[in-house]
Amino acid sequence: MMRPELHRALCGGALLITSTTRLAHDLRRQFDARQRESGHRAWLSPTILPFHAWIDRCWWNAALEGDPPLPLLTPAQESALWQSIIEQSTPGGIVPRETVAMLRDAWSLVHQYRIPLRGPAWEYQLDPAAFRQWARRYISECNRLQRTDAARWPDEAARLLGEGKLKAPGEIWIAGFDDLTPQQSELWQTLEVAGCLVTRLASDDREKGEARFALCTDTEAEFAAAARWARSYLEESPRTSIGIIIPTLQRHSKAIHRIFGETCGVAQASWLADWLAGRPEACPAGPELMTVSEAVGSEFDHLWIVGMHDAAWPPPPSANPFLPRSLLLDRQLPHTSASSQLAWARRVTARLLASSPDVIVSCPISEGEARLRPSPLFGDLPLAVLPAPPPAAKPVALESIEDHHAPALLPGSFHSGGTRVLQLQAACPFRAFAEVRLGAQQPDVPEIGLQPKEQGGLLHRALDQLWRTLRSREALLEATEDQINQAIHEAVIYAFADPRCAAATALQQRVHQIERQRLHQLLREWLEIEKQRAVSFEVFTSERKSTIELGGLRLQVRIDRIDRLASGECVLIDYKSSEQVTSAWEGDRPDDPQVPVYTVTLPEQPVAVAFGQFEPGKLRFVGHASADGLLVGAKRDDDYAARLAEWRTVLNTLAHQFREGNAMVNPKKGAATCRLCHLSSLCRIAERRRESSF
Ligand code: SF4
Repeated sequence: MMRPELHRALCGGALLITSTTRLAHDLRRQFDARQRESGHRAWLSPTILPFHAWIDRCWWNAALEGDPPLPLLTPAQESALWQSIIEQSTPGGIVPRETVAMLRDAWSLVHQYRIPLRGPAWEYQLDPAAFRQWARRYISECNRLQRTDAARWPDEAARLLGEGKLKAPGEIWIAGFDDLTPQQSELWQTLEVAGCLVTRLASDDREKGEARFALCTDTEAEFAAAARWARSYLEESPRTSIGIIIPTLQRHSKAIHRIFGETCGVAQASWLADWLAGRPEACPAGPELMTVSEAVGSEFDHLWIVGMHDAAWPPPPSANPFLPRSLLLDRQLPHTSASSQLAWARRVTARLLASSPDVIVSCPISEGEARLRPSPLFGDLPLAVLPAPPPAAKPVALESIEDHHAPALLPGSFHSGGTRVLQLQAACPFRAFAEVRLGAQQPDVPEIGLQPKEQGGLLHRALDQLWRTLRSREALLEATEDQINQAIHEAVIYAFADPRCAAATALQQRVHQIERQRLHQLLREWLEIEKQRAVSFEVFTSERKSTIELGGLRLQVRIDRIDRLASGECVLIDYKSSEQVTSAWEGDRPDDPQVPVYTVTLPEQPVAVAFGQFEPGKLRFVGHASADGLLVGAKRDDDYAARLAEWRTVLNTLAHQFREGNAMVNPKKGAATCRLCHLSSLCRIAERRRESSF
């Protein structure tokens, strides 16, 4: 449970920085739980970030506050740079990925622990001597490229904070840092000097919980005992917090996945996959699997620590071979000597035992041929009595029932989500059923910058406003350059006149500024396409909302634009931000039935239908026309009337199937369709494919 003083500080706008992503997620969950318990129904999310995310955000803030710092190399760019440097110095040699990772780690440690790159210590051993030489080349390459990296950026951030060029937050709490590196200590000190109140959340001031030790026959028996133990607590209270620390989480991932999946059920296997994939935020409440370092700072109702035998805990020292040992000892880097490793393991042991009132520590008594003993660091714990494993369940004959049908909807049922329901029904009937009727939609993932959907919305609003001003081809051709620019300018301002845009952060405002320029340019180029149209037109309706009926379904739609030609006939236009093909309208299962739906339900049949394609560099109309010259870019189609009749049949069939409850798992293009869908865990397509391959 989150401490009251930290909760108060976060409510007051303090920033919380954690040592790991998992701890940030855990503390955010604790904050939310506390808000709910206090009776709140909505609240501002507190800013809780792991250190690396916060330091990245400092870079963005510095870039936005005026003096842009040197761009940061991405991890992949750093690796590529180290690799190319080694390859140049050892032509023809193969550079293993692990070596590059160790070099990057050594480079980080040099900065984190203030290890000087000069002095005789570097000269006596081959690897450190080579590293120093490569590091010098790395620096000169970074200078040439005008780049910095994640290892050096905290020092640069501290300098900018110290000089007042980067605004310091008012209050920072830091959590989960067992050992601060000198680089981090200096950064916090600089923040304090800059007027920031820095509070370190101590992790070792908690009472030790009740802990017991369990001996298991082997590692798999240990996992099975932990899984049964977790399951018993979950059955009592599904929201209880259970931690399972497995130092060898990656190495034993297959066995862990199998055993926990079998013991805790399929529903628990998916969270396990998320944990193993390093996505704690994707997991629902329930047991959490983690390594020792990921558990730092966390608290649980129940905790099980596996694999604590004498060969594994304390772990052997693991000094980076590219750094001179004498300097590592001099700078007191953790994990570099047996004594520092023992001291670290004692601190971590005490912290783990204090992180839950109910702790079980376990170890296998054998691994292969080896006999194992409990780690001496847990030598004083009483033995736990674990329930015996249940007898193996007798197999039960299973009956399979294929049921592709949901209850039918009443005729005239209304759906407000537009034509997407038919697009989904065509792609996979189960997806249409799950998304539209069960509401199993994929939540939007927040990203820095504008999402394609937001960009599309801005484009539509701007075009709507632009044609309200220009109205017709004649008016467009008669307008002066200045008048056109002014109309575009006002249309773009109109598009951004939205309360969400007004509440934008500094970074979002910068993104909006760039998008405004981009939109202005796009509209300028688009009007040149419109000028090429040979037939006079007037924009008759723009962004018109209406309710249409198809196959017994009523759908709410918004038609982008209908032009009235001089002949009195009309042309339908649908704006799209990306490249389009008209083949998406065709077949029994059209990929994009939006234009066909509008076409066949309009009271007046359009003589041409087209996408207005706003893909930068490829702006054009793409569509079909019943005659030549009606719309530039829309090809004459001799079977135009027959095509529209076919669309009507196909769309009525799709709407009818949806209304009748056809929810068959039937992706149009097999795995290619499923790759674009988020529902595979609901429709079990993978299991179906596995079964059908036997
Ligand atoms: S994953 Fe494939 S089969 Fe499952 S609902 Fe999506 S498209 Fe249909």
